[in-house]
Amino acid sequence: MYVLGVETSCDETSVSVVKDGNIVLSNQVLSQIDIHQNYGGVVPEIASREHVKGVTYVFDQAIKKAGIAFKDIDLIAVTKGPGLIGSLLIGINAAKVISMNYNIPIIGVHHISGHIYANYIDHGMNFPLLALVVSGGHTELILMKEHFDFNKLGETQDDAVGEAYDKVARILDLGYPGGPAVDQLAKEGKDSLHFPRPMIHSDDYHFSFSGLKSHVINTHHNMKQRGEDICKEDFARSFQEAVTDVLVEKTIKAKNEFKVKEVIVAGGVAANSGLRQKLNERIKDVPVYFPKMAYCTDNAAMIAAAGYFQYKKHGEYDDLYINGYSRLNLERG
Ligand code: ATP
Ligand code: MG
Ligand code: FE
Repeated sequence: MYVLGVETSCDETSVSVVKDGNIVLSNQVLSQIDIHQNYGGVVPEIASREHVKGVTYVFDQAIKKAGIAFKDIDLIAVTKGPGLIGSLLIGINAAKVISMNYNIPIIGVHHISGHIYANYIDHGMNFPLLALVVSGGHTELILMKEHFDFNKLGETQDDAVGEAYDKVARILDLGYPGGPAVDQLAKEGKDSLHFPRPMIHSDDYHFSFSGLKSHVINTHHNMKQRGEDICKEDFARSFQEAVTDVLVEKTIKAKNEFKVKEVIVAGGVAANSGLRQKLNERIKDVPVYFPKMAYCTDNAAMIAAAGYFQYKKHGEYDDLYINGYSRLNLERG
């Protein structure tokens, strides 16, 4: 079954052709990072316009690279949310055009189910499994007992991990998006600043990162006021150690309670080297999987993979009234 994936929820225009849920024939990603960098973050209005400019080209490239024709596609899977509404609608409308023109069924996919299914592409899935979702807008622990069955055990009560990374990067003047830059600097620093590990021993699976973020900002501000030397490497390392300690501790707690067969990590922060290392060091009894780098941040291959299993599970298509949603519940599929 050939699925055409379409992803435009934020600042990547991406289209992909995936066969049977894991054979990626093409995965074209047009990133707008260069443009948004000038503003220190994604500007929604600009993002929508850039999607409009690039979307037709990316569709054509994805089909060409896959070596097939639109008429060969069996299903179109498009991100319907959560995300920037203007951006989502560009992908959804482009997907509708192809659906109508070639008479191909269409389904709307939850962006986070895509991040989770990025793991299926190279590793498959073995249930029950625990998914640690760490992205720009989400930080959650999800228990899956079978395909396309998402039980949220806990989530951040305020900032997402990726958001905190980007904020800390801004304080350290590392540009946007800051996650990869903080990760890189952390390798040369020491955990010398002893930042707090929020909620690390709380009796639940929730997280909180806004207090830690403020702590980093205040420490930086106070040191500057006192004219002290600021070692960016140590800031990056101390922040990364604090974040990953909390993520790993809660992941282990959930792994043990629910006796899962594997742990998978999903979302942009799954690219983080500190998190990868710590999870691999601390979890030895079950496998821990991460998507390959290209499938960690936003891409359409993950949406096609998720769409394939969503269709297999529910056997239902959407119709051409399909809409975009800035907020959307994952558990309702
Ligand atoms: P969501 O998926 O929640 O809607 P999003 O799509 O904006 O949000 P992703 O594309 O999944 O987020 O991930 C982007 C985030 O990942 C950014 O916050 C970025 O800083 C972070 N990130 C990417 N690489 C790394 C890394 N190596 N270390 C830490 N953070 C990283
Ligand atoms: Mg992005
Ligand atoms: Fe994402």
